[in-house]
Amino acid sequence: MAAMTTLKGDKFDRQLFESVLKRRFFFTEAFEIYRLSPNFKGDNRGLFDYGPPGCALQANIVDAWRKHFVLEENMLELDCTVITPEPVLKTSGHVDKFADWMCKDPIKGDYLRADHLVENVLRARLARGTRGLVKDSPKLDDATIDEYNDILAKIDNYDGDGLAELIRCHDIRNPENNNQVLPPTPFNLMFKSTIGPSAAAPVYLRPETAQGQFLNFKKLLDYNQGSMPFASASIGKCYRNEISPRTGLLRVREFLLAEIEHYVDPNKKEHPRFREVADIILPLLDRDTQLSGQTTSQTMTIDEAVKSRIIDNETLGYFLGRIMLFLLRIGIDRSKIRFRQHLANEIAHYATDCWDAELLTSYGWIECVGCADRSAYDLTVHSKYTGTALVVKEALLEPVRVEGWQAILDKKIVGPRFKKDAKFIQSAVAALDQAALERLATELSKHGAVTIDTPALSDGTTRVELTKELLSISRVAHLQTTREYIPNVIEPSFGIGRILYALLEHVYWHRPGDAARAVLSLPLAIAPTKVLIAPLSSHPQLNPIAHKLSARLRKLNIANVIDASSASIGKRYARNDELGTPLGVTIDFGSLEDGSLTLRERDSMVQVRGAEDEVVVAIKGLVEGTETWEQIVARMEGFRGRGEGEEEKERL
Ligand code: AMP
Repeated sequence: MAAMTTLKGDKFDRQLFESVLKRRFFFTEAFEIYRLSPNFKGDNRGLFDYGPPGCALQANIVDAWRKHFVLEENMLELDCTVITPEPVLKTSGHVDKFADWMCKDPIKGDYLRADHLVENVLRARLARGTRGLVKDSPKLDDATIDEYNDILAKIDNYDGDGLAELIRCHDIRNPENNNQVLPPTPFNLMFKSTIGPSAAAPVYLRPETAQGQFLNFKKLLDYNQGSMPFASASIGKCYRNEISPRTGLLRVREFLLAEIEHYVDPNKKEHPRFREVADIILPLLDRDTQLSGQTTSQTMTIDEAVKSRIIDNETLGYFLGRIMLFLLRIGIDRSKIRFRQHLANEIAHYATDCWDAELLTSYGWIECVGCADRSAYDLTVHSKYTGTALVVKEALLEPVRVEGWQAILDKKIVGPRFKKDAKFIQSAVAALDQAALERLATELSKHGAVTIDTPALSDGTTRVELTKELLSISRVAHLQTTREYIPNVIEPSFGIGRILYALLEHVYWHRPGDAARAVLSLPLAIAPTKVLIAPLSSHPQLNPIAHKLSARLRKLNIANVIDASSASIGKRYARNDELGTPLGVTIDFGSLEDGSLTLRERDSMVQVRGAEDEVVVAIKGLVEGTETWEQIVARMEGFRGRGEGEEEKERL
């Protein structure tokens, strides 16, 4: 596993880092005081509450996301419900297939996610250089080391049988107690409930926002005046009943997901704005490289990757580029990003190709954004079930003469006989393709009746028999004026909590030689609070200046806090460095005399001095990105201190 270092290249100490997040209340385990009470029988694992800086950080990341994607590309935003009726998720395949493999430790009663179990045990063995837990267990030879590395490189490609085989062959046990585990079984990750007092109808908490977007496709297309391609987007809570959530915010049971569904003509996967991202260099870890047992990504431009078909098409390449730009924009470390292609067995049931943006954290490389080509899967299955055609109809520039099979239902008989099912039978017949029609024509003339698949009918069946009195199929020639197709969907899907956590790890460092003085170098646009305002003494005349400045900044929508506590200025700076506050304004007796204020930048600790107006203009320029700190230092009067807080004390 790649070693994790801080922004300044020091060894990353997770314990110290986590103590900062805890101290500054970025987030906390949910229901903590209950969990701590001695007779608590519940389970709060994988559930987290965000504190004030965590909330502000999350809001700023979401705001940046909305600007970068929704506003930039005129995406159509939706807010759909979490509670989802079972038939929707049955049709989408989630009820049957949205599962992870799980092993039970029959003695302790623990449930372990099978792939993570194998991964953790093999990694631990590689780190120890021995095959077992105990000190004098056999040493690993070179062939075994290679074998383990090979398994780890493609760990996501093992299905249940494959994992069972690994567990058996390599004697993999529960690392907590060395107990043997039972063979893996699938565990569905969705939370199930029922709706209404009768509790008759099953529902699930959505595991992704995507289904709500697909079900509104027809309305979205109308709203977009039939024009293709276009994208919908949604930000909302999603729920997955993870088997063993252990890695803080990285694997939780309730999380915020920001998803885009980009609908595209399957024959035209070029993207009109592709040139804007073509030259961006991406670190790519493709499928073949992983299957060869390697984990080193290769860097190339998106253009090269699409031309060489490493990335399948321009639209997928475009979104990988946009994802990269977004991650850099919010402050993710460029050297800790890679794009990994899914392996055949790992890919979700609905996708044909998928690339994950993975971020390096102290827990290893973590998938933070998935970018899947869902092809026409979801729109097709929902169309079939509901009988609502989720299709695009495009007028052809030149009508074309086509000869083919045509099916006609006798509506006069079908209507009265099938009543409210008639329109679903009609749509099932309309959805038959040429090959099916040809086959049915032969069958109809041979047997006088055919059976076809339909959307769900009122008696719960999905098939109907049609006799030749109801249905005729013949070959006809006609002028085709429209083309009809089900769009393909490219889906970038962002786990906001994972991105937020990885970002915090990436921007964390400490002052040289002092591990206790932590700094979070969050970019100005993302930092929870932009400006600390600190009167240097409790003298009553300083407070009004602080409040006036605070109000001026608030009017400019610049988040600021006044810290008028009696703590030394050094302590107040240190607290705000840990909160990632990029700027600090101090007010001292000089301010009373000549109205001047000191402005301090978090990372360099450099300070400048100027009139209130000058300081406000500087802050505004920095926040809006129209001026850099270097430019401000060059134009404003420097304010040199011997150390943090020293000079201020002298002036008082
Ligand atoms: P998926 O639909 O599985 O590709 O997930 C989409 C995104 O959701 C991932 O890239 C993660 O960022 C995020 N995600 C998935 N599962 C979890 C989880 N249990 N906890 C936090 N984030 C998650």
